[in-house]
Amino acid sequence: MKVLISGAGIGGLAAARALIADGHEVAVFEQAAELRHSGAAVTLWSNGTGVLNDLGVSLDNVGAPIDVLETRDHRGKALVSVDVAQAAARYGHPHICLPRARLLDLLARDLPPGTISFGHTAKAAKTQANGTVTLTFANGGTINGDLLVAADGRGSAIRDQVWGGDPGKLTGWATWQGISPVPVDITSSHRSVLFVGKPGTCGLMPAGEGLLQWWFDLRWTPGTPPPAKPLTMIRERFGAWAQPIPDVLKAVTDEETGFFPHYRHRVPRSWGSGRITVIGDAAHSMPPTRAQGANQSLEDAWVLAAALRAATSTKTAKTTKTTMEDALRAFERQRSAKVSVVSRQAGSEDYNKYGAVLTRLVPSSFATRYYTKWLAQISSYLTQASGSMALWHEAREQASLLPRTRRLPLQGHERQGPLPRPSHEPAAKGCLLLG
Ligand SMILES: Cc1cc2nc3c(=O)[nH]c(=O)nc-3n(C[C@H](O)[C@H](O)[C@H](O)COP(=O)(O)OP(=O)(O)OC[C@H]3O[C@@H](n4cnc5c(N)ncnc54)[C@H](O)[C@@H]3O)c2cc1C
Repeated sequence: MKVLISGAGIGGLAAARALIADGHEVAVFEQAAELRHSGAAVTLWSNGTGVLNDLGVSLDNVGAPIDVLETRDHRGKALVSVDVAQAAARYGHPHICLPRARLLDLLARDLPPGTISFGHTAKAAKTQANGTVTLTFANGGTINGDLLVAADGRGSAIRDQVWGGDPGKLTGWATWQGISPVPVDITSSHRSVLFVGKPGTCGLMPAGEGLLQWWFDLRWTPGTPPPAKPLTMIRERFGAWAQPIPDVLKAVTDEETGFFPHYRHRVPRSWGSGRITVIGDAAHSMPPTRAQGANQSLEDAWVLAAALRAATSTKTAKTTKTTMEDALRAFERQRSAKVSVVSRQAGSEDYNKYGAVLTRLVPSSFATRYYTKWLAQISSYLTQASGSMALWHEAREQASLLPRTRRLPLQGHERQGPLPRPSHEPAAKGCLLLG
């Protein structure tokens, strides 16, 4: 099958890898002249790193493993500490923060030459009478395929066409963030530290290679231009907070500070139409407060490939008359059920609004158990992939909660042999490194 993909971001490249591995002919069209170098770092949790493992993307010695999520108040007092290494151990996949550019490079690295065409802006798509799809570019050029995957991000032109407009609404919050070689203790640790207070939140996280991912979430009135020199404003509000925030603010520059307004929208049950489907931020852009947008985009790619694999298997098609379009709608419904949960949570901006109060009320042991359970609740991968489910059942069987006979069905991954595990093996227990 010839699959067209608009957008060479995390979702588009992951879909390309997954579909090529299944024997499809794939052509990716990216509006930019090259892969994105900006966008600071992204944190991939067990659901995202699990998908990457299945896609053959090795995270050996890439980025920084994250074992603990600490929240502190603006004076530096510890409020709650989530031992996320427990979730990594349970699901068998680590949590890793790495530069976005590095992730894109890894996803694109061994694609067949010519898979990505740069400088191609997708503008519109049309399903033809014979069921094929024609993709039209901004320069008037066209290309035909059996299927179109719109992975062109939050401002997706194809999504707007299929959905009848842009569903995104600004939440009134924005992130100013960057990735810089700041030699504070967190940079060489395995912990993410979030400072919460009235004006907003400040997050600090190691991203590997001596880099610190730093961000500030603040209220921002939609329509007002962001300050040209944002650090002056940020230093006014956060400059007197606990160390290492003042040290970080001294070390970073306006030039390396990116501005990202937060968008949210309802995630519908159906994302596409005919042989056009939508994945990633195009289908479910959400504020970065749960750090799940990229992870969910990776999951989209994984589930999409599994759905098409099932639909194109001769045996299945004969016995159940599954059509490609049915498979795409089933993929969208399956993903929607998971993504809509995390999208609603992130869209509420609860952490930014109430983090300082809420985190005082929650014991760390409870937060750790909640986090582990939550990750499975919002993940298709962790509840379906064979390796992860085996671990999940093992853990539950040890706790005598689930009889061995009630294993959930596995989907699609029996075909793959074991792939190398990243060398960042999750620690059995997180280390609480209070600074
Ligand atoms: C500040 C911030 C921090 C974040 N941190 C995290 C995190 O830690 N963890 C996490 O999981 N997620 C995080 N996210 C979310 C994550 O960045 C997105 O969910 C993810 O990038 C979505 O990938 P995507 O491929 O769907 O879209 P994108 O990354 O937006 O990629 C879309 C691609 O399509 C291209 N494109 C756009 N329009 C067209 C067109 N018309 N034709 C052709 N190409 C086009 C773009 O140039 C781009 O290359 C964060 C987001 C923000 C804003």
